Amino acid sequence: MPPSLSPLRLLFVSTSVGPLGSGVGGGVELTLQNLAQELQQRGHRVEVVAPAGSRAAGLSLVPIDGAVQPMAQSQQRDAPSVLPPNSVLAHMWDYARTAQHRYDLVLNFAYDWLPFYLSPFFHCPVAHLVSMGSLSEAMDAAIGAVVERAPATVAMHSRAQAATFVWGDRPRILGNGFDLSQYKVCLSPAPYLGWVGRIAPEKGLEDAIAASTKAGLPLHIWGAMTGEDYWHQLQQQHPDSSYQYQGFVPTQQLQQALGRCRGLLVTPKWVEAFGNVVIEALACGVPVIAYRRGGPAELVEDGVTGWLVEPDSVLELERAIARLDAIDRLTCRQRAEAQYSNRAMGDRVEAWFRDILRSH
Ligand code: UDP
Repeated sequence: MPPSLSPLRLLFVSTSVGPLGSGVGGGVELTLQNLAQELQQRGHRVEVVAPAGSRAAGLSLVPIDGAVQPMAQSQQRDAPSVLPPNSVLAHMWDYARTAQHRYDLVLNFAYDWLPFYLSPFFHCPVAHLVSMGSLSEAMDAAIGAVVERAPATVAMHSRAQAATFVWGDRPRILGNGFDLSQYKVCLSPAPYLGWVGRIAPEKGLEDAIAASTKAGLPLHIWGAMTGEDYWHQLQQQHPDSSYQYQGFVPTQQLQQALGRCRGLLVTPKWVEAFGNVVIEALACGVPVIAYRRGGPAELVEDGVTGWLVEPDSVLELERAIARLDAIDRLTCRQRAEAQYSNRAMGDRVEAWFRDILRSH
């Protein structure tokens, strides 16, 4: 048993690509919410700085106005770091700078250059929970400089994510945690498949549509619409397929609908850092078919909680769909509970904070 950590005053600085609750921030939004909730339950005080318009039940929010950042995933590798005029990212970090004396630790959730650059200028320790793999030279250098100077302060979600950086063996690997009481197991699924994620090219929705069509099962799709052009292209390419876009819904509604799926298809074209939706599906008893790539390949146990298939192979997806009945739905739930509860994540994060405070 690690020694318990005395109550901390924590400032969480959210992603600056959109307000919490909009879905634009992807998995970071739920990650922040779950972690804040768990740490509060443990007696820590958490305040969250986030773009104006953010919604997060049970959290103390400091809303900040300003223009949102462009999404890092849509940039080229050699793209420069940019800040729009009236940048919300700059304003959020200005707030963190002026308020830092009230906190024991600041935790950054933004995958952006500025927070990494600024952290040595802070008196209060700044920790970074990195939400994506290597995407640009500017970010590699910014994160790498912090890894060099203050290695204890950088954490990632999966080994595969960390391995996309040249110094990938150095960051701490935290996985992720979920409030599993919110997800109910469904043992009698309906005859359709699910796909959950931002509607954006790196998420590879086209492969899931193609495979479900071949398998003769409808595909239900949930997620924030961040790539309108991409979505229109998909509709043109697959005019006759039986897929239905259900919009972006809150966790409570998502888990109800997700639970009824026979299986979840996870088909990313990039190295997904973790894949929150994998654990959310397993928590509902839904087997996951995922490409053997990135975070999802570390989360799905092949033949136990789903099937891992050759990346980008629609044929293999189709074959795995035919084998979904071989997966026991209760086992899926048990595997999610074993490693991905909020409590397990809370233990890992407290141990991380303890090391940062010791080395500061
Ligand atoms: N999500 C949601 N409602 C929806 C669809 C998705 O709340 O209708 C959330 C889901 O719970 C997950 C996130 O969107 O936390 C997607 O995160 P993931 O890690 O799978 O991918 P990312 O978008 O970060 O690449």
